[in-house]
Amino acid sequence: MQLPTYVHKDNLGQWGVFLEQVDRVTPHLGKLGVWADTLRRPKRCLIVDVPVRMDDGTVHHFEGYRVQHNISRGPGKGGLRYHPDVTLSEVMALSGWMTVKVAVLNLPYGGAKGGIRVDPKPFSSSELERLTRRYTSEVGIIIGPDKDIMAPDVNTNEKVMAWVMDTYSINVGTTSPGVVTGKPVNLGGSLGRRDATGRGCYVVAREAMRRLGMEMRGARIAIQGFGNVGDAAARIFHQNGAIIVSIQDIDGTIYNPAGINPYQLRDFLSEGGKSLLDFPGAERISNNDFWSMDCDIILPAAHENQITLDNANNIRARIIVEGANGPTSPQAEDILLDKGIIILPDVLANAGGVTVSYFEWVQNSSSFFWNEDEINVRLDHALSDAFKAVWELGQNMKISLRTAAFVVGCTRVLEARQLRGLYP
Ligand code: GLU
Repeated sequence: MQLPTYVHKDNLGQWGVFLEQVDRVTPHLGKLGVWADTLRRPKRCLIVDVPVRMDDGTVHHFEGYRVQHNISRGPGKGGLRYHPDVTLSEVMALSGWMTVKVAVLNLPYGGAKGGIRVDPKPFSSSELERLTRRYTSEVGIIIGPDKDIMAPDVNTNEKVMAWVMDTYSINVGTTSPGVVTGKPVNLGGSLGRRDATGRGCYVVAREAMRRLGMEMRGARIAIQGFGNVGDAAARIFHQNGAIIVSIQDIDGTIYNPAGINPYQLRDFLSEGGKSLLDFPGAERISNNDFWSMDCDIILPAAHENQITLDNANNIRARIIVEGANGPTSPQAEDILLDKGIIILPDVLANAGGVTVSYFEWVQNSSSFFWNEDEINVRLDHALSDAFKAVWELGQNMKISLRTAAFVVGCTRVLEARQLRGLYP
């Protein structure tokens, strides 16, 4: 198999992780395996220059990407992230994980992802707006409600989605809410979307714990990240009786064996200019101690490549719930599996976000809106059903839950690929 030449073969980065996962699933795909090379190349990658006039009048150029990994089952779907470490390889991998994720949930989408290589932290709101609008305009040739639909991801939020929606709408001359999901509710966003990824993490953890005979009440959870995913997950686990014993973010790690109150932490951090480490309801510990903590669940909800050969041997948790995309390296995964640790893989565990994105898109196309209870109940059903399918396949085939999820997802993608046939 020839690799695409636009990522360096000796430094594949996260795309290399995705390829390794595809290699692991291919022997389990039966006759569909002949189509597996489809997954080893993204369908389409667009790299754009994003020039931005900064508030001081200077012009800075940023590199932007939108990758559509596979669109055999429907329009591309996936988030937009702003981060200084964004690379083409990373966006390719993230788009590949979206392909598998939407197929595991049987949503009528393909996988896509976008990113800008930028540190948005020092940006003023108007600089962020100009960055977002110019990027949207540049990728406008391949996005659209029936082509490729964006959503929030690392360092993007409802406000950014509103600018994407407005810019795209102005460029096409009609108001087009369906080009993004995760937008503000009064622009056509869905109730329940903001907490959906965290809620999904809770649902899959609850389902796994039921099967393992573990109690949610009193379960001890350590969460890495307190952003779009970690904050909501912390609140929902807390509401259901679990104890948040530790939280780690970019500033460091805090710990309280009696439980960190996520509402108090959110209020504390929303005052602005505050560090997690100064939260009065917990003590500081080292980042290494986070990984070796005596707890039931570790929920990485930040970036890729956090559980590696450096810390995998120290992990004592019973379950890893991958709220982030790609947090566990394949080598670390082998160690964890040998230790009997259950890994609920990203393509299942963090699929709550894109599931409610789908509900949002359906509501936009019918201009009929559901209440929050309806959204949460449908989300719970969708994720519990997907969990059951993956769990049972894993048990029956004696394969990891990640490989089982890839079997479910890749089978759907490659069946569609085969049915559509090869053009011309
Ligand atoms: N960025 C989220 C993810 O990685 C959500 C994607 C979406 O809603 O389209 O799954």
